[in-house]
Amino acid sequence: MDYSEIHNTIKSAKNILLISHVNPDGDTLGSMCALYCAIEETFKKKCDMMLLSKVPAVYEFLPNIDKAKNIEDFDKSRVYDLAITLDVAALDRICSGEIFFEKALKTINIDHHQTTKNYADINIIDPDASSTGEVVYGIMKTLDWKMNADIAVNLYTAILTDTGSFRFDNTKPSTFEIAAELVRAGANPPEIYKNVYESDSRTIVLFQAHCISKSKFLEDDKIAYTIVYKKDMEKFNAGDDAMEGMTEKLRAIVTTRIAFVVKEMKSGGSKVSMRSKFADAAQICAVFSGGGHKFAAGCTIKAAPEQAAKLILEEIKKIKEL
Ligand code: AMP
Ligand code: MN
Ligand code: MN
Repeated sequence: MDYSEIHNTIKSAKNILLISHVNPDGDTLGSMCALYCAIEETFKKKCDMMLLSKVPAVYEFLPNIDKAKNIEDFDKSRVYDLAITLDVAALDRICSGEIFFEKALKTINIDHHQTTKNYADINIIDPDASSTGEVVYGIMKTLDWKMNADIAVNLYTAILTDTGSFRFDNTKPSTFEIAAELVRAGANPPEIYKNVYESDSRTIVLFQAHCISKSKFLEDDKIAYTIVYKKDMEKFNAGDDAMEGMTEKLRAIVTTRIAFVVKEMKSGGSKVSMRSKFADAAQICAVFSGGGHKFAAGCTIKAAPEQAAKLILEEIKKIKEL
């Protein structure tokens, strides 16, 4: 990959749009803010940052996240010289932001999903990277861009959250090496840990306890799943960010080999979040035009949640070795 093309494209662009994915996580937000800070540091330029959903409260500490704007606050007629997606596996993950991406004169896609397609002019996809944060770090290192404490905090958060605190199988020696560099550059592990993992509201904890208490277990408890209804979300006054980490809790059960959560969407249809220990979750979700990684994937299904769960279970039961 010739990274100099990225450098020159960013250098010559007068206005740049950075786009994170819907229902944002630490990786898409951390990578976007890191790139914002890096472009400011190296090129003395300010980018626009686009959000497709509200920033979960636990990520409000990310340096410069306050500069990101919701899509509603963008001028629809605006044409950017350059649009860059971060951690966006497929363009439907940026919903109505796609119009801005399509109109941009040049596009870059920075990602690490194994299912990502080459939908941009320049595609920097590394399925071996733990996170998009690690890909952004690689670009910066290769191009010799300057690091600073704000970039380090953003990238460390991206890597920390996508590796489940350096627990998942995407955690490699290079992940720790990069994390060490980021700590040297100013990322403070206990402070970031507290912000991300010890900042849940009481609402979120009680809401998740309620949803998990309704779980169903099949095939000698190898399959665990639960359905989250709109009415539950309303009752608990829970936002989309309240879903974060719920599927991992079902996978954490010793007998579980595959776990999923089906969320009834406001707009109708269902969003599925899947985690597995052995089977390829991305492959199962790809049946429904979704994707992700081997052990963490998702999709949306145009069906009521019970029906969506039934369809997913049919696919899971086709797998010989769960
Ligand atoms: P989630 O369960 O929402 O945390 O998503 C788990 C993983 O699957 C993440 O890496 C997502 O980027 C990916 N993912 C979730 N939904 C989709 C989708 N509809 N299409 C492609 N990838 C998805
Ligand atoms: Mn993500
Ligand atoms: Mn990611």
